[in-house]
Parts: sequence; C-alpha cells; structure tokens
Amino acid sequence: MIIDDIAEEINRCTRCELHRYRQKTVPGEGPDDARIMFIGEAPGREENNQGRPFVGRSGGILNEILVRTDLARADIFITSVVKCRPPHNRVPRKKECETCIHAHLWRQIETVSPTIICLLGGVAVRSLLNINSVTDTRGKIFRRGAFRFFPTYHPAAAGRNRTWHNGLLEDMARLHALVQSELNV
Ligand code: URA
Repeated sequence: MIIDDIAEEINRCTRCELHRYRQKTVPGEGPDDARIMFIGEAPGREENNQGRPFVGRSGGILNEILVRTDLARADIFITSVVKCRPPHNRVPRKKECETCIHAHLWRQIETVSPTIICLLGGVAVRSLLNINSVTDTRGKIFRRGAFRFFPTYHPAAAGRNRTWHNGLLEDMARLHALVQSELNV
C-alpha cells in the first residue's frame, strides 16, 4: 500500500462523526520509509486548518524538543490516532479511536514499517497498548507483533507541566540514542 493512497482514503472517510466537523483531514506527513513514527492524539485547530500534524502550539513544543535532542523532524513520520479534529478539541472517544486505527493507522504503520513508534500521550498509549498510564510506561519499549512502541508524554501536556516537559525531553534523547545505536550495529 502506498502512503498517499491511505491519505486519499482518509480524505474521503466518513466512518465516524468526526468527519462532520473537519475543515481538512490530517493524515500525517513524513517519509514513507521513516525509522521513527510519532503518534499523537488528534488534530487541533491549526492542524484542521492546514491539514498538517503538529503545526499549532503542541507542534511548537514538539519542534523545540526535537531541536534540543538533535532529531530531524523531516526524518520522522508524524501522525495521530484520529485524523479529524474533534469538536472543541474534546478527547476522541474510544470508538472513534478504534475505528480510525482499524481503518487507517494500522495500514500506515505497516506501510512505513518504522523501527520504533513513539506514542505521544495517554490517548495513543491507551489505544495502541491498552495501558492506562503514561507515567508508568514512558521511556520503555513495548513489543506488539512486529512493532516496537515507545510511550512518552504529549507535547501539550509538557507545555502545562515542567516535570512532564523534562520527561519528554529525556525520553526523546533516549529515543535518539536508541535509533542511533541500532544504525551503528
Ligand atoms: N496534537 C496531536 O495529538 N496531534 C496533532 O496533530 C496536533 C496536536
């Protein structure tokens, strides 16, 4: 499957009620052979306007952390659990997450086939790992089938809390080291 074909299907998707509210879908962006994939929660206002992931306030925090940990955004495939903005930025419902993951996200994961998938925040951790706590799981690797998942805090949460900001920074540095060490073997 070609990553652009999945994006096309997302653009046409009407599987859940979130499609009623969107300006643009936000399928995700990045190389289709990226070694690292980021999965956030849901598009916000700016993402809904532009059709690109993490271009609003959370994106600013994420970009700053990427620069500080020497990770290149252009090398990462960035997407979210759901591809349409929930009204008033409410948390996407379990059923919406399940529908979007089943219809689109798994195929994106299989197509990109990244070395590691970084889960940004509680919704991604709950939806993909079925585990409720980011604090207990962050910075560790979880294997599910052929893929490895690496939970950490959502950049929006890091923007609200200094401890979480430091945690996100620490985890991203770890992620970089991890991918680097695998490239060198
Ligand atoms: N937050 C997310 O989880 N995803 C985005 O694309 C933007 C903000």
